[in-house]
Amino acid sequence: FDHAAGTVLPTIYERTTAAAIAHEAVNLGQGFPDREGPEWLRQAAAQALTDPAVGPSNQYAPGLGLPVLREAVTEDHLRRTGISLDPSSEVMITTGATEAIAASILAFASPGSQVLTFEPHYDSYGSMAALAGAELVGVPLSGPEFHPDMDALEAAVTERTSMLLLNTPHNPTGTVFTEQELRRAVGIARRHGLVIMCDEVYEQLVLEADQQHRSILSISGAAEVAVAIGSAGKSFSLTGWKIGWLCGSAELVNRIRGVKQFLTFSSGPGFQWAVAQGLQDDRGFFAENAASLAAARDLLHSGLHSAGLRPNRAASGYFLLADISEATDLDDVAFCRLLAEEVGVAAIPVSSLIIQHRSDQRSADAPDPLRRLVRFAFCKRLSSLEEGIDRMVSRL
Ligand code: PMP
Ligand code: GLN
Repeated sequence: FDHAAGTVLPTIYERTTAAAIAHEAVNLGQGFPDREGPEWLRQAAAQALTDPAVGPSNQYAPGLGLPVLREAVTEDHLRRTGISLDPSSEVMITTGATEAIAASILAFASPGSQVLTFEPHYDSYGSMAALAGAELVGVPLSGPEFHPDMDALEAAVTERTSMLLLNTPHNPTGTVFTEQELRRAVGIARRHGLVIMCDEVYEQLVLEADQQHRSILSISGAAEVAVAIGSAGKSFSLTGWKIGWLCGSAELVNRIRGVKQFLTFSSGPGFQWAVAQGLQDDRGFFAENAASLAAARDLLHSGLHSAGLRPNRAASGYFLLADISEATDLDDVAFCRLLAEEVGVAAIPVSSLIIQHRSDQRSADAPDPLRRLVRFAFCKRLSSLEEGIDRMVSRL
């Protein structure tokens, strides 16, 4: 909210989508798939909404979420990560991962405290920290591979630090944190009395055979300090459904529930029921989706190369980052404007995903490699990616 102007400034994602529409640009900005999620799952939702013999009532779901979905989340965690959760107290269904993030930060980021995250970072972390009266402090992911530097993270902890906000697999770099890195994070949290919120919405979208998602909750000692967040939007390519979940010890979940019950209280039982069917049996969708995202990533990766940009090979998720410094003297914001208005491709400037108050005290004027990066979404049809690549190769 811009108090001076008295207006709401839409998020960078919405602004980019609006620019894409205005300039008839291929939208490689906002991270949503441009095709629908599995038809059988959408049919399950339709049935849940209309057939009382099959689905739940269309009235309020319980605040913690439908038991059938909490049980499905529990079984899914047990199968994939070996973590055993109690669905009656250690799993809470939320209105998208966004609400789980909001409620966690409001529950644990005390006013005046600092909240640490690696950057670039997902935009809601900073805004929610501000709404909690706290300050987000960023630790840059290091090097061309965007690795989390756990020594730098620990060095950034002060007596005001209240939380660590982790995100693995990571938006926008695609970095999948290793078990060793997560172990270090849990150690830091325990030593300094911090709560970890680990945003794992891309857990089903690891695109490299030699990498594996590790949930923070699978790390020994995490139970006392960490919660993990998931999203059906990301897992099933159904971002509009806004069904997410949060898992952790009964004590932490309960504290967060105390906030969540006054944010939305609960969300659509029909969608919750359908997501439970999908988690119980994904009918091969997760593997298929990861394979098609990997093919889309490869196509965009080589297309951006041909256009003179230097993309990373994102190991997960929906996005890759391209270094623009060899192609232009423009900064990322000006380059994205040119890209939308003159080339016909919408993308996100990474400087909109970083923080002014940097843990390494880098001056705002100093050259910052993160300000020379642009995020491109590859969760799009191959035909959309091809059109975007053609435009960039011929017009840049
Ligand atoms: N966390 C990250 C890292 C994201 O990229 C997103 C965007 N999908 C969210 C959270 C929000 O998820 P949801 O749409 O389920 O609210
Ligand atoms: N998660 C999506 C992205 O990173 C955007 C979600 C939103 O528009 N708030 O692009």
